Amino acid sequence: MDCIFCKIVAGAIPSKKLYEDDEVYAFADITPKAPFHALIIPKEHIESLAEAAASHKPLLGHLHLTAAELARAHGLTKGYRVVINTGDDGGQTVSHLHLHLLGGRAMGWPPG
Ligand code: AMP
Ligand code: ZN
Repeated sequence: MDCIFCKIVAGAIPSKKLYEDDEVYAFADITPKAPFHALIIPKEHIESLAEAAASHKPLLGHLHLTAAELARAHGLTKGYRVVINTGDDGGQTVSHLHLHLLGGRAMGWPPG
């Protein structure tokens, strides 16, 4: 499968690892949109949130708790934003489910 994030999980493409366990991998975004910008992904290839199934319920919680723990570990005490771009209208460019964790500056709303 030609998936850039599966290749990152496999170590075939280098990344700056921030966290890893049996199910989840987190790494620095290559073009950060905030002073702190991490991507948190399942090791299992899931195309997007739109493809998530009921069987993924624990994994989806795991991904969100990983975001919260990373935010704590990196001192994002003033707050942060967690984003899941989904599909074309959602602005998803990599077809492997991922959470963006953005922090270190105030975020605008609504998003573009
Ligand atoms: P999205 O547009 O929501 O699909 O987010 C994809 C993100 O992946 C973008 O923020 C990219 O900067 C990031 N990205 C793409 N390739 C890499 C890579 N090799 N290493 C780290 N981040 C990447
Ligand atoms: Zn993948």
